[in-house]
Amino acid sequence: MIKNFVIISHIDHGKSTLADRFLEITGTVSSKEMKPQLLDSMDIERERGITIKMQPVRMDYVFNSTPYILNLIDTPGHVDFSYEVSRALAAVEGAVLLVDASKGIQAQTIANLDLAKKQGLVIIPVVNKIDLSFARVEETVKELADLLSIERDQVIKISAKSGLNVDLVLKAIIEKVPSPKEEKEEDFQALIFDSDYDSYKGVIAYVRVNSGSISSKESIEFAAEGFKTEVKEVGYFLPKATVKKEIKSGEVGYIATGVKEPGKVKVGDTIIKSKSTAKPLPGYKEPQPVVFASFYPEKADDFNLLKDALGKLRLSDPALIFEPESREALGRGFRCGFLGTLHIEIVSERLKREFGLNLVISTPSVVYKIKNKRKEEELIYSASDWPDQSEILETFEPWVSLEIVLPSEYYGALMDVLQNIQGNYVDTKYLGQERMILFYEAPLSEIIVGFYDKVKSSTKGYASVSYNLIGFREGDLVKMEVFIAGNKEEAFSKIVSKEKIFSEGKSLVLKLKQFLPSQQFAVALQVYLHGKVIARETISARRKDVTGDLYGGDYSRKRKLLEKQKKGKKALKEKGRVKIPSKVFLDVYRG
Ligand code: GDP
Ligand code: MG
Repeated sequence: MIKNFVIISHIDHGKSTLADRFLEITGTVSSKEMKPQLLDSMDIERERGITIKMQPVRMDYVFNSTPYILNLIDTPGHVDFSYEVSRALAAVEGAVLLVDASKGIQAQTIANLDLAKKQGLVIIPVVNKIDLSFARVEETVKELADLLSIERDQVIKISAKSGLNVDLVLKAIIEKVPSPKEEKEEDFQALIFDSDYDSYKGVIAYVRVNSGSISSKESIEFAAEGFKTEVKEVGYFLPKATVKKEIKSGEVGYIATGVKEPGKVKVGDTIIKSKSTAKPLPGYKEPQPVVFASFYPEKADDFNLLKDALGKLRLSDPALIFEPESREALGRGFRCGFLGTLHIEIVSERLKREFGLNLVISTPSVVYKIKNKRKEEELIYSASDWPDQSEILETFEPWVSLEIVLPSEYYGALMDVLQNIQGNYVDTKYLGQERMILFYEAPLSEIIVGFYDKVKSSTKGYASVSYNLIGFREGDLVKMEVFIAGNKEEAFSKIVSKEKIFSEGKSLVLKLKQFLPSQQFAVALQVYLHGKVIARETISARRKDVTGDLYGGDYSRKRKLLEKQKKGKKALKEKGRVKIPSKVFLDVYRG
């Protein structure tokens, strides 16, 4: 019998560690091969201790003399990767909801639980890390029982680290999670929930088979995209991809498609057999990128490499979108859409590590909307596309609803942070006795840079944040333009609320002054609004003392040299713009 399930939780509550114990207990991985968070296979995941990619694994387990196949999908916890979670949820029937007993319920616990409930999954509530001396086990059990409206004794208390009571979780999965329906009809249907690329086998589609079965050499069709190919190989994840003769109804596995063009196989599409009349399964809601940034290769020659790399990354990260653009100062690059700023960071780091690409990255921004004089609405993806102010009737920006979970004692400190951003208080609810959920609304632009850090530091790391987009709202928005040594540097221009333009402009020129290396001539840093300078700083010239090795009184020679230097500087200034090292973009963007 088959049981398909996911583990969901807030980041760091122990999903990957619990998966390790499952792999051990079921003998899927021998103790010799075991290492902590085994399913986090990417280097970045291991270094940062976070899961970015969902990871499927198939385990065999005998319980009460009955053999079971347990298909587990480990998922990421960070808000930027909730699209990964939602895809995994559509491939399973149950979810283990894990809560760290030393931290209690957090924002992503609630956000992921909401997704699981929408999908109609059976929830298995588990409190983890009960071995920690400072764990608040009973309080956490109560919080979780209240959240789910169940009795406290339904919550399983475990230590994923020591393995204590982990067998009870397996027992609950077997007893409570329904087995997938045995679809009698012959027609093969499999939902693609993820994909990967192999230079020999082409795109590897990770699938949940809904009905029928498939083996290699069979001819298949992608229902939505409508093209055909021949299956190169099928198999399971044990957790390494392992070739099998066939995969069938109810199972989770992979189909190597041989397709070499990454863009052709889409997550959410249904694989059927050629000439079959099987219908496509309901796919996924396309992810909505909320933050945009431009990526340019440091070396212009790397443009094609970057294009190729983004195509390949998209296979395992379908939320990443990109389109080519070019900028005078930077050459050719891509405007990319992301689910959040951690997503930007992870993608740029993967491009560096997996493809050896060094990048120049623009300040991230959100998507804006304007209504022009002809009453037409336009979406604006980049400050450089912002029309002239005379063309604009109304401006709009995306807003989010925020849910912040925190211990009540930090409420005041958090309100101080929130008072400094534009936004509205909505509501507060208690979670147990000492913790609460604060509901707030704010423009997305207020939270994409630096907001999490401020929330974390004001609450000593105890608060957690999740958000949902709630749509566009009107705002008084303007374009801030940046000139360096008289040249407009579009990469630094930015859309801001009019109220904030003076403070934003000042802080930008100060940052540029701090980070830009000095030149042989004085460099003016200016911020413009509607053609007027509103902030200005100057980086003074780096004066090389060309007369240093001349002694004494030969004044005329000295003057001649200085004159020559002056002319040189003037020529330089006329000749060109300041070359901005890519590090400066990053420094300014990080702030
Ligand atoms: P994930 O982000 O939910 O996948 O969490 P991880 O499995 O990566 O675990 C986060 C951290 O918590 C790691 O340092 C684990 O060693 C630790 N951890 C996980 N489970 C337990 C537990 O039961 N007890 C203790 N003391 N630490 C745990
Ligand atoms: Mg993990």
